[in-house]
Formats: sequence, structure tokens, C-alpha cells
Amino acid sequence: MSAPLSAYEGIVGSAVIRQLRQLGEKLAGTRIVHVNSTREGGGVAEILEWMTPLMGELGLQASWEVIHGTPPFFEITKSIHNALQGHPVSISVKNWKLYEDVNARNFERLGPMLEEADVVFIHDPQPAHLLSLCGRRKGKWIWRAHIDISRPYRPVWKMVRPMVEAFDASIFSMAEFAQTLPHPQFLVPPSIDPLSEKNRALETPEIEAVRAEFGLDPSRPLLVQISRFDRFKDPVGVIEAYHLVRKVAPVQLVLAGGGATDDPEGKAVLADVMEAAAGDPDIHVLLLPPDSHRTVNALQRLADIIIQKSTREGFGLTVTEGMWKGKPVIGGDVGGIRLQVVNHHTGFLVNTPEGAAHRIRYLLHHRERIEAMGMEARESVREHFLLTRHLREYLALMLVIARGGQVRFLEV
Ligand code: UDP
Repeated sequence: MSAPLSAYEGIVGSAVIRQLRQLGEKLAGTRIVHVNSTREGGGVAEILEWMTPLMGELGLQASWEVIHGTPPFFEITKSIHNALQGHPVSISVKNWKLYEDVNARNFERLGPMLEEADVVFIHDPQPAHLLSLCGRRKGKWIWRAHIDISRPYRPVWKMVRPMVEAFDASIFSMAEFAQTLPHPQFLVPPSIDPLSEKNRALETPEIEAVRAEFGLDPSRPLLVQISRFDRFKDPVGVIEAYHLVRKVAPVQLVLAGGGATDDPEGKAVLADVMEAAAGDPDIHVLLLPPDSHRTVNALQRLADIIIQKSTREGFGLTVTEGMWKGKPVIGGDVGGIRLQVVNHHTGFLVNTPEGAAHRIRYLLHHRERIEAMGMEARESVREHFLLTRHLREYLALMLVIARGGQVRFLEV
């Protein structure tokens, strides 16, 4: 649950909030439905958690629905997700049929609401087939892609593309992800809620309690990567970087992750991580329950450097979260991380474990740079990646769509 809009005035200024209220008035009563595939875990759930109530506060009738699936369905949608991020995976005709059948079962439940809605936001590919089932829709349907779709695996994109083309518009996090599609495409980067449990300021005793709980040594530098155990997040590459740094500095590493209910691959990746960590007491692999927001918050605050060494990344809310806590981020030179990490200013972009190790060593030897970059990082988030900017763009976009969608790009 988010704080009321007025609570954000102290962070972004009252003019920003006033503008949101004005936009909200123009859309008062508009029925919005967001549909995604998990209530908790991962960045999409993180965003819908605040976006739905804040749209409500602005006078829109917003709801958030989650499609229900079986384990085989989520295996298939994870394959689709991996393929759209460029991984070659083949999906059988039988599995495409299962994907459609599960969407159809969800439509039986959600159909009446989707037919009546003025604007439906379908998040990612899992529920994308719902549109073709909604013959009597009244409103506009928008496909919101949260993943790095710049180089999709063609055979799977060939199947997904016709589904996407049927939408009235689509939203991508950055220009590189946009595709040739017969409808308006909007660029809207995600954002964080600075007052959520995940991001609000914490008192020192609470932070120290988390340090003690996980046996972290206060006298030695700490590297933290928070991520689902997903190959594209490259946790094993982070361990490789740690090993290289460890030769010259007594660092500790936290790799904290949990599962998302729509991500069945986590176990296998976690097994690889445990093998790479091989009993090193300074590598803390933490499996956190999905509601551990304050723990994640504290871990990010305990970090000297935040790592997000992804090899594909739609946006990377963990990067934003770390930056907001005044930390430099060493991130993979991919996708949305490039949008956030201003190389040499708010952190470093890297391509290899060696590159990450090099930058970690540099920062550990130049402690003053850690502080300066961290401050620049926090201000950059304030300017570009807080929820108020995100909300404004969604409202503006709905106004454009309602008026026929003639604007092709709505830049930040
Ligand atoms: N997250 C969490 N616990 C975990 C792992 C991740 O709360 O164990 C949160 C993380 O803080 C962030 C979101 O899940 O808010 C992940 O979003 P991101 O965009 O970084 O990656 P995604 O999982 O969507 O690919």
C-alpha cells in the first residue's frame, strides 16, 4: 500500500503533485485494469503495488488482477520471457495451446471486467493472449513490456508479435526495446516508491539488527546484489568478480533473492550459486520470503557498493533502489541499467566479472568516490525515477490514447 500523494510533496515538491491532480481530474472515473502474472516477487508487482492505489486516489477506478496459472504454464511463460530476451528456446505447438488455454480459463473469471474497462494494461507476455479473447471490449488495450526485448529470439517473437500487434499501443522502458509495430509505442521507464517499506529511511538500530541477523562483519566492505535467482542476473558472475576482488581486499558478498510465483527456474540457478559459493563464509546467499522489503532495504543500506551484473535487464529496479540509498552501482552494460547508471558518475557499467572486479577494487581504494557517486546517484533517481514521474506519464499516455493515439513517442 502506498502513502497518500501529499506525503510525496516533501520529496518532489508540491508543483509535481498539483500537476498529477490536474491530470487525474481529466481522467476522473476512467476504469483501468492492470493484469500481470504475480502478486509478489519481481519488479512488476513492486510497481503495481503503489500504482493501483495512487491512480485510485487521483479519481480513476483502478484495479489490479493477476492471472492464475499451473506450474507447466509458468514453465512456458518463463521460456517465452527468456526467448524475448534473446535466448534460443523452442516452444512446442502443444505448449502454445496450453498457454492459450490457461489465458482462456482466466478470461472466464476476468472477462466481464475486461470488457467494461476503459483502459486495460497487460503487463508482459503471460496474459497477452487475453486480448484476442475479448471480442466485446469497450476500451483501449495497452501492452506494457517490462523486459529487454531488443534482440528477441525470432521464432518465438513471430508467435508473440501478432498478439502484440492487436493492442492499441505498447509501452517499453527504453527506445532500444521498441519494435516495428502498427500502433503507437510509448517510452516510459519504471520507477520506485521512495516511501515504501523497500525504500523509506530506516533507523540505525533496525539496519544494525539486519547486519547482526546475517552475521555481516561491520569492519569489512560489503557488496550486495539483490535479485531473483535468474541466469540473466548472472549471480555466478558476481561470485567470480568477488573471488577476483578477494585476492586483494577482505570483502564480503550478499546475494539475496527469493522466488517470484511466476518464475520456476530459481531452484536450478540457486543450485549453481551454492556450488560457486562453495562454503565460503563471506558469501552470504540469502533466500528471503517475498515480503522481506525492510530486510532488502536494510541490506541495500548496509552495502558499500550495489552490484547488478545482469546480462539482460528490462530496467532493474534494484539499481534504482540502490541508487536512491546513495550507493554507487556496478551494473551490467545492458538494457535499463544503461539508462540509470551514468558511467563514472553514478556507478560503472561492466561487461565481465573481470570488469566488475576492476571497478570494485577502484572504488574500495577511493572511498571518497563511493560517497560522491552515491550522492549523484540519489539525485539522479529523484529527478528521473520516482513514482510521480511514472504516474504522470501513464496519465498523459491515457489522455493521448483516449484522443486517438496520434503521438508516436512520449519521451521522459
Ligand atoms: N526483490 C525482493 N526480494 C528478492 C529479490 C528481489 O524484494 O529476494 C525485489 C527487488 O528489491 C526489486 C524487485 O524485486 O524491487 C526486482 O525488480 P527488478 O526490476 O530488479 O527485476 P525483475 O525481478 O523484475 O527482473
